[in-house]
Amino acid sequence: MASSPIIKARICPHSECGVGSGMTLRSDRRIHPDFQTSPSFLLGNAYIHEEAWQCHMCKRTILELVGWTYGENGPEECWRRTVWPDPVPRTLGSDVPERIRNLFVEAAHAERVPPYRLAGAGYRATIEEICKDQGATARTLMAKIDELKGRLPDKLIDDLHEVRMVGNDTLHQGIAYSADEIADVAEMIEEMALVLYVQPAERQRKAQARQQRRDEARKTP
Ligand SMILES: [Zn+2]
Repeated sequence: MASSPIIKARICPHSECGVGSGMTLRSDRRIHPDFQTSPSFLLGNAYIHEEAWQCHMCKRTILELVGWTYGENGPEECWRRTVWPDPVPRTLGSDVPERIRNLFVEAAHAERVPPYRLAGAGYRATIEEICKDQGATARTLMAKIDELKGRLPDKLIDDLHEVRMVGNDTLHQGIAYSADEIADVAEMIEEMALVLYVQPAERQRKAQARQQRRDEARKTP
């Protein structure tokens, strides 16, 4: 009897698709170490596999590299990243001040490289810039965030502290975070940018458009 196919759920990374979907594993190939020279698995060794998945919605292929070690309890996955389609680094909208956007993009590039120390540090630097832009002047980042209490929503203050702590952990404490956890941090910043810059700019554009219509209506007799 043929073994049942391996299926997982994830957001399809193809921009034309981009929905949550089932994926079927079509092929799984070891690319390191070379299978010809070391065909057996050795305890404690690190392996890299190339997995090809097919999205159930758009039928396109997604290629992932997976790093894992062969431990006492069997294989243990250490990291995984998408190599096809070419992952597009995160960006913030043009309503966000340039210094904040630039730091965020640099951090987003580092999000491709485990163990994500520079991504953690970069996202921390991004929120420090957000705090300064919001008028915080205290010396440390912790004090800057506390300075903004009462001026920004409580949820946003909590998120700022969360990003700050992840940055500290990855850089100074050597605590390893998973790709998902670093992605969470990036998403918190995307949400902050939306609340602090994108939505106010959007409201202002709409108000201007309404005013323009009023002005034009007044001109016509
Ligand atoms: Zn798809």
